[in-house]
Amino acid sequence: MKSQDYIALDEKYGAHNYHPLPVVISWAEGCRVRDPEGKQYYDFLSAYSAVNQGHRHPAIIQAVKDQLDAVTLTSRAFHNDKMGLFLQKLCDFTGYEMALPMNTGAEAVETALKAARRWGVEKKGVQNGKQEIICVEENFHGRTIAVISMSNDPDSTVNYGPYVTGFVRVPYAKAEAIEAAVTPNTVAVIIEPIQGEAGVYVPPVGYLKAVRDICTKHKILFICDEIQTGFSRTGKRFAWQHEDARPDIMCLGKALGGGIMPISAIVADHEVMDVFTPGTHGSTFGGNPLASAVGIAALKVLVDEKLDENAERLGKIFRDELRKISCKKIVEVRGKGLLNAVVFEKGFEAWNVCIALRDAGLLAKQTHGNIIRFAPPLVITEKELREAIEIIRKVFTAL
Ligand SMILES: *Cc1c(COP(=O)(O)O)cnc(C)c1O
Repeated sequence: MKSQDYIALDEKYGAHNYHPLPVVISWAEGCRVRDPEGKQYYDFLSAYSAVNQGHRHPAIIQAVKDQLDAVTLTSRAFHNDKMGLFLQKLCDFTGYEMALPMNTGAEAVETALKAARRWGVEKKGVQNGKQEIICVEENFHGRTIAVISMSNDPDSTVNYGPYVTGFVRVPYAKAEAIEAAVTPNTVAVIIEPIQGEAGVYVPPVGYLKAVRDICTKHKILFICDEIQTGFSRTGKRFAWQHEDARPDIMCLGKALGGGIMPISAIVADHEVMDVFTPGTHGSTFGGNPLASAVGIAALKVLVDEKLDENAERLGKIFRDELRKISCKKIVEVRGKGLLNAVVFEKGFEAWNVCIALRDAGLLAKQTHGNIIRFAPPLVITEKELREAIEIIRKVFTAL
C-alpha cells in the first residue's frame, strides 16, 4: 500500500475530527520518521511533545519488552510490583510528596479539578456546589466536557452544551485579572505556564510568580498544566521552575509516556492529595504495570541524558538562527527551550508552509492558521538541529 491508500482509509473509516498533514509515518527512530515510500523527515512536532525522549528510545523499548514478559495489567483492585516504584521516581523527579496516575492528559486535568473542588470543601470550608475555579483565555487543557467548559475556542466548544459550571475565565498573562476574579468560593487557579496550543504563547517574566503569590495570599490552589511544557521541553524539568513558582498541583502527561503509551498523573503534597479516599476517584488502566515500567524508563532517560540542558542550549541556537532568516511574512519567533513557534502575519496560510516543509523533509504543524510550532524530540543533536534549520531556511526564504 502507498501513502495515499492509507490516507484514503483514514478518510473513509475514521471520524473527521482531525485535519492531518498529508503524510503517512510507518517507521521512526530518534528525531526522524519515514513514510512507506522510504522518504525521511525530521519530526518537529514530537506528537505535541509526547516524544521528548525521541522515537523508540532503546532504553524505554527494552523496559516495555521486559515488562511484557512479566505482567501488563492488574487494575487497582490489587497491588502490582511496578506502580510504587514508578510513583516514587515521579515524586523524586518532580519534588512532590504524592502522585495519582491516570492515562491521558485530559484525565490528569479532570483529576486536578476534582482534587481542587474537594479540597475547597474539606480544607477551605467552601460549601459544596459553590466552588469556583479560575481559568484563562486561550487555554488548552484537553477535550472532555468539564475541560472544554473552561475553553473559549469555538472549535473545542460549539454545540457541546450544556457546559460544566464553576469556572471563571480571565485574560492570560495578567496576574491582576486573576486577583480581581477571586471570591471566597475560589478554590483554584489553573494555567499553562506557556500556552502551547494557543501558539507557544510565553507570558511576561514574573507572571507565574505573581500567580503563585496570589494563590498563597488567598488560600487558593495553584494548578499548573505542564502536560506539554513539562519533562524538560522548555529547558527546565518543568516550566514553572523558570520562576520558582511551585504549584500546588501539577498536571502531567505526554512525555511521561516516553512516546510509547498514554500515561498521565497529577502530583501534589499530602495537604491536597489526602482528599482522595478509597472509591472517590480512579481509572482501570491508571498505574498499570506496563505503563509504570515505561514511566520509570522515560524519567530515567530525561535525567541520564540531561535533556533539560540539551533543550536549553539548542533552543537558544534554534531561535537565534530562525531570527536571522530574512522573510518578510514572519512577525515573531518565540519560545523557550525546544518549544518554539514562528508567527506569520495575520491571515497568512501557514498550512502551505507546512506542506513545503514536508516536501523539503521536515514535519511541523500550524496552529491558529498563521503560527507554526517547532518542537523536535529533545534527543536531537546540534548537527541534526542545524541540518533541520537549513531546511527551514530554504523554505522560508522562498516564501
Ligand atoms: C495535550 C494537552 C492536554 C491534553 O492531553 P491529552 O492526552 O490529549 O488528553 C492538556 N493540556 C495541555 C497543556 C496539553 O498540551
